[in-house]
This record gives sequence, C-alpha cells and structure tokens, in this order.
Amino acid sequence: SPKNRSIAGLLGKRLPVAAGKLLHDLGTVGDELGLAVYAIGGFVRDLLLGVANLDIDVTVEGDGIFFAEQFAARHGCRVRSHRTFSTAVVIFPDGAKIDVASTRLEYYESPGVLPTVERSSLRHDLYRRDFTINTLAVCLNGPSFGRLTDYFGGQQDLQERLVRVLHNLSFVEDPTRVFRAIRFEQRLGFHIAPHTENLIRSAVRMNVLNKVGGLRLLNELIQILRENEPVGAIVRMAGFGLLPFVHPALKLLPEIRRVVEETGRVLAWFRLLYLPDACEQWQVYFLALGDRLTTDEFHDACRRLAVPGRISTKVFSHRRQALGTLDAIQRRLRRNPEVRNSEIYDWFHGLPLEMLLYLAARANREEVRRFVSQYVSRLRQVRCSLDGDGLAALGLAPGPRFRTIMDRLLVARLDGEVVNDEQERALALLLIASDGGASVAKMHH
Ligand code: ATP
Repeated sequence: SPKNRSIAGLLGKRLPVAAGKLLHDLGTVGDELGLAVYAIGGFVRDLLLGVANLDIDVTVEGDGIFFAEQFAARHGCRVRSHRTFSTAVVIFPDGAKIDVASTRLEYYESPGVLPTVERSSLRHDLYRRDFTINTLAVCLNGPSFGRLTDYFGGQQDLQERLVRVLHNLSFVEDPTRVFRAIRFEQRLGFHIAPHTENLIRSAVRMNVLNKVGGLRLLNELIQILRENEPVGAIVRMAGFGLLPFVHPALKLLPEIRRVVEETGRVLAWFRLLYLPDACEQWQVYFLALGDRLTTDEFHDACRRLAVPGRISTKVFSHRRQALGTLDAIQRRLRRNPEVRNSEIYDWFHGLPLEMLLYLAARANREEVRRFVSQYVSRLRQVRCSLDGDGLAALGLAPGPRFRTIMDRLLVARLDGEVVNDEQERALALLLIASDGGASVAKMHH
C-alpha cells in the first residue's frame, strides 16, 4: 500500500502564492466534476527537493480532456487537446501552460467505480514512468489536498539520492531512459542505483540503443547538452559506452575531453558578456564532441541523428570553413603576430556564433581565443554609417564599386583609420574621386 503523508504545508511554504492558488483551483474543479486530480512527476520531485520548478503536470483519474475543458471554461483559458493520447494543454491568458493527462481509460469500463479501483488506475499509470523519483503524485482535491501518493518508494530514493527504474525491462521497453537516467543523475547530483546501472550495461550490451530512432536519439542528446553543466553527463555517457551509438568513431579521448571542458569555460565567458543573442549551447558541445570526426564521419553521425539534410549541409560547410579558418590563422600568426581587426572580421564573418565558440574552445592558442572574443563582443557589431543611398548622395554612380567602397569603408572603421562619421565621409569622397572617372566611363558604355 502506498505511503501517504500530507505535504500541504510544504506546498504552502515553498510555492509562490499564485502557484498554490492554481493547485487549489485545479482541485476545486476536480471536486465539482467528481474527478480525482493529481500534480505529478518532476514538479513533485523538485518540490520535495526544494528545487524551483513551476512546470506543473496534472493527471486526472478519468477523462483529462473533459477536465481540462471544464477548468478552462471556468478560468478563461484555452485548451489544446490530443484525443489519441487523452491529453490536453491548458493555456492561460498570460501564456502559461499546464499539461493534463488521463490515467488509463479502463477506468470507464468498470461501472461501479470504487476508490480502490481508482487508486489502482493511478498506480497503473505511474508504473509506466521512468524512475521512482518521478512517480510521486500529490492529490489536489479539496478534502485530501496535499496528500502524497508514493507507490514505488520515490520518497526514500529522493532521500538516498538514487535514480532507480521501476522494473527490470524498463530500458528494453524504452532505451531513451538510459539518457534520462544520466541526465537526472547529473542534474540532481544523484547516483544511478547499482542494479539500475547493471540494467543499463546489459541494455548497452544488447544494443537496444540501435533500435532508437534518430530523432529521439537526437532529442535526448540535445536535452543532455542543454543542461547547466553537461560535462559530467558526457563523461557518464562515454563510461556506459553510449557515444558509439551515435557514431562508432565517437570516443571521449583525452584531447576531446579537453575541448569539451574548454567549451564549458567558453560558454560561461560568453554568458558573462550578457550578449543579447541566444546561443545554442548544445550545438557547441556537439561540435566539441565530434571534434576529431572527419567530414564524412560527422556526416554519418548527423544522419544517424536524423538531422534534416537542409540543416546538416549548412553545418558541414560551416564546420569545414571554420576548421580551414583555424589553419589559416595559425599560418598567419607564424608569419607575423600583429593582426588587424579587419583580418579578424574577415576570418569569422559569416560563421554562426556556435561555430565561433567551438573554435575558441578547440584552439590551443590563447591568441585565437582572444580573436574570437574580440570579434564576438565588439567587431561583429561594427557598421559604417554610410549606406548605398549615402554613397549615391555623395555622387557615386550605381555600379559594382558600391560593394568595394563599402567594404573599404568597413575596413577603415574596423582598423580605426576613421573613428567618426565625418572622417568616414571624407574617406568615402576620396575613394569616389580616386577613379570616379572610370565608373562614369563604365556607365556610359
Ligand atoms: P525536466 O525538468 O527535464 O522537464 P521532468 O521530470 O519534468 O524533468 P519530462 O521529460 O518533462 O521530465 O517528463 C515528464 C514526466 O514524464 C517525467 O517526470 C517522467 O516520469 C515521465 N517521462 C518522460 N519521459 C519518459 C520516458 N521515456 N519513460 C517513462 N516516463 C517518462
């Protein structure tokens, strides 16, 4: 029988007032409809751990879609429902969302629904979950608001900080749980329980991960690489032998590990700059992991992960360009260590931010990191004040010289030859005059 205790006090203490009220509102609608309503999963786990998480998942014993529609009608929300899965999303006017699921619908097939049947239906639903720590449910109905349901020892595993599956076939049933186990372990600072770890090893030996579709594998990888500090999880994936399922040549060699760890530092630096544009952290880590892959191998890895061709084509060409640039920089530095801003601009211009941060992480030289830093934080924002219309107003006739003069003005800006609009205008006039005759002649041709 489940260990029930009330965590109503905790709900009152740890949640913002609005969130607490929302839980009560959900329970009230459940009371009115005669449906048992639970907050469930990650929300309850994090609540007990004292980790902020307002991502509330609700499970209704019975018809979750009906519940969602009734709740929405009373609280001015919209509903998006998925009939095939008996799930719904309640969308609040401010954009906040709550996922609503239904327990198994066998519930409807038994006419005289007894409380024990209801409870076993919730239990059945929870049994399909990944780990014990995710199986805790809190009742939201008025009379028993805050009552915790713990069928599988989730509270004890939270206490002992263990990630544990519910049964031996869990990873065979859904191999993506291998990645989820690592993700939760590393995020929460837990351990995968010894028996669960053995089950992972045997799942790996049985190659069950080969059965996971590319998109699902990619999705798990992305979720891991988006975690705050993914290096531990990467090390763990390598330890379990998971990387070769992405590509046989993918190994966490010491030099790759260096690039991966350096990636963490580069990203931390980037965040400190508070740059407005978001950077896809997972992409930088993915590039770092694949650092030693040849272009063909990288291509195969992307194909295994079902990365759409349109995207992967772009990634390959950027990756090739980036690695070529790095070689060019090394050669250039051997010739002369003095580098002009316009050269830096020229090297990095056109490469996505993720690729630049990867270059900074994989470069062994301090200078390269400094160049990337200068480009990202300053140079890429540099603009001329004159545009095409401005040049035309200064007397430049339409033609190919627009491009070359604009480029020349940008170089002057980057290298500090001109430092204000006045000087830029003077230089523009000089450039236009220098062979203005030629462009006029060309025009008349
Ligand atoms: P996160 O903070 O990463 O969102 P979460 O616990 O909310 O953590 P989700 O991936 O949003 O995780 O999943 C919600 C719930 O659904 C989990 O608590 C888990 O119990 C269940 N779940 C998700 N994926 C699986 C799976 N592959 N197998 C079994 N249960 C799963």
